[in-house]
Amino acid sequence: MGSKRSLRCSIGRLGSIRQKREWLRRTISLSLSLFVTRSVCALQVTKESERSPMVCPKPPYVGACLCGAVRVKVTASPLLTLVCHCRDCHKFSASAYSLTTMFPSDSFSYTGEVIKGGLHSNERAHYFCASCLNFIYSRIEGADWRVNLRTSVLDQAASFEPFVELMTDEKMPWVDVSVVHSFSQFPQSLDDLQTLLDGYAKWWQRSGAADDS
Ligand SMILES: [Zn+2]
Ligand SMILES: [Zn+2]
Repeated sequence: MGSKRSLRCSIGRLGSIRQKREWLRRTISLSLSLFVTRSVCALQVTKESERSPMVCPKPPYVGACLCGAVRVKVTASPLLTLVCHCRDCHKFSASAYSLTTMFPSDSFSYTGEVIKGGLHSNERAHYFCASCLNFIYSRIEGADWRVNLRTSVLDQAASFEPFVELMTDEKMPWVDVSVVHSFSQFPQSLDDLQTLLDGYAKWWQRSGAADDS
């Protein structure tokens, strides 16, 4: 889907040299990622693997929706923090990218009424406050062990620095997020996800918030 959108991009429509350079960069990146995805996974760029995350408070973490009717609580450390630049997330978040913090399901609880929204399906369910319709969390079929919480809902949102960004093929060109891992598309396998989870666990240890730190 992202590839089709990127291919629609025409250099003739782009005005400045800077935009043309960006178009060229995206085209090269797209070509590489298409090549790689045939056999392995989306193009991945890793940088600053030794960079430490910002100092973060220890769990539990609490938060609320915009109107306060839904309150959330998490009692465990996060499993992964991420940014998604896909076109759906632009619309979903009404912003340039979405912010997600993944937690173990059994550490997550909430009070208040939520309703399903977004492009929910049998595979994915997105939950919103029934009153203010603030996006709260998502669950994915077959991944019941984790919940994808919208980072911005948490009181300590600023502490959950993103570890990985996804779908940079669809990134708005003026956005620059500092992350450790960058994927041009979505990771293609559970092995990719497990590698990210393992990497994040080590990274989180350096935040000072891990349970045994
Ligand atoms: Zn609300
Ligand atoms: Zn997305």
